[in-house]
Amino acid sequence: MLGSLLKKNQKICIIDSNAKIGAKIRVSGGAKCNITNEVVTSDNYLGEENFVQNILNEYSSQKMLDFCKKNALETIFNEKIVKGTYFCRSSKDVNDMFSKLNSHVIFHLNTTVTELLYKDHYEIKTSSKSIYAKKVIIASGGISFKSLGASSIAYDIAKSYQHEVSRLDPALAGFTVQKDQFWFKELSGVSLYCKAKVGHKTFDGNILFAHKGITGPIILNSSLYWNKGLMSLDFLPNHELKTFFKSNKKISSALPLVKRFVLAFLASINLEDKAISSLNKEEKEKLYTLKNYEFAPAGNFGYTKAEVTKGGILTSQVDDKTMESKLQKNLYFIGECLDVTGELGGFNFQFAWSSAYVCAKALNSNI
Ligand SMILES: Cc1cc2nc3c(=O)[nH]c(=O)nc-3n(C[C@H](O)[C@H](O)[C@H](O)COP(=O)(O)OP(=O)(O)OC[C@H]3O[C@@H](n4cnc5c(N)ncnc54)[C@H](O)[C@@H]3O)c2cc1C
Repeated sequence: MLGSLLKKNQKICIIDSNAKIGAKIRVSGGAKCNITNEVVTSDNYLGEENFVQNILNEYSSQKMLDFCKKNALETIFNEKIVKGTYFCRSSKDVNDMFSKLNSHVIFHLNTTVTELLYKDHYEIKTSSKSIYAKKVIIASGGISFKSLGASSIAYDIAKSYQHEVSRLDPALAGFTVQKDQFWFKELSGVSLYCKAKVGHKTFDGNILFAHKGITGPIILNSSLYWNKGLMSLDFLPNHELKTFFKSNKKISSALPLVKRFVLAFLASINLEDKAISSLNKEEKEKLYTLKNYEFAPAGNFGYTKAEVTKGGILTSQVDDKTMESKLQKNLYFIGECLDVTGELGGFNFQFAWSSAYVCAKALNSNI
């Protein structure tokens, strides 16, 4: 993105350890790249509110959609999984667009940056040679998905220039579970529409039971806000449980839920599958845990499965009008390496586009 926004008379080079640009774009959104979201505000991110909002204000999701339109990239509104999401026909189209727009850029691919030194200019040490530059923009992302080229280089460079990096954790990943929730694993493959509550956040959407624990869009989003301790699920979000209590059917038939799920749930709370109308007060109370099932995840699926890295380079040490380091001149940080992490639904790409725009605008006015 950045290369395509910079004025053509600037000498720009992009260094990437991958053989092709846009490795994450390629696999994102099931290879259809969830490029942005209809409504994007700082509320969709973990990070310093004003910093995030100022950057989003400079380059909104509408501006990204206009940019796509101008460059003949078709975007498709699709709310099947997450509200407000825009996808593309194919992730390949996104990478093709950026490749065309970056025709003036010198690429050093298959080249891994190992260190950044500064005297009166920068020396970028790489796996093959040193590259010299007046200004350096770090856009090397987080440490999730090593298989796609991720490394800790952004944090290493930031620290070498006295930047602080907040605690890093894998996020937008499924949860592993503790012994009390091992019954989730028996339901591997079952999907349900639920409401998840974690801290002050609630998410409506699907969960998916998995052999490792529990996943699905609202669980991925919960993993962003979960630190330790309890979260809760409402397995029957659009229904009042009391409306079923007159039925003479067994619980597993009376409730509008997958039978396999209800049977496993009842076993987990030690409640027999009998006529729902025959439940006494205490049994009804037990059944009400369906509406507020509290559990403490054991952890999450980790960096190999996490779509993002939560935490990063502290934003108080980066200028939100230019993305330049406040500690080191001509050094810039954009995208996921910063301590800004978005929810599932196009928010992480949007922050990458917006921060790239802010940086490009500053560099263009500075030549
Ligand atoms: C499977 C998956 C699906 C996703 N789907 C979506 C989605 O649909 N929508 C959404 O908004 N977000 C999605 N995300 C998150 C999104 O991809 C990232 O937040 C976003 O790509 C971050 O952009 P970035 O430019 O900061 O870093 P990245 O896109 O991670 O790019 C960093 C680049 O730096 C290179 N690099 C790293 N270290 C070095 C080094 N030492 N030397 C040289 N090069 C290096 C890497 O090879 C990589 O090409 C997904 C992530 C994953 C893993």
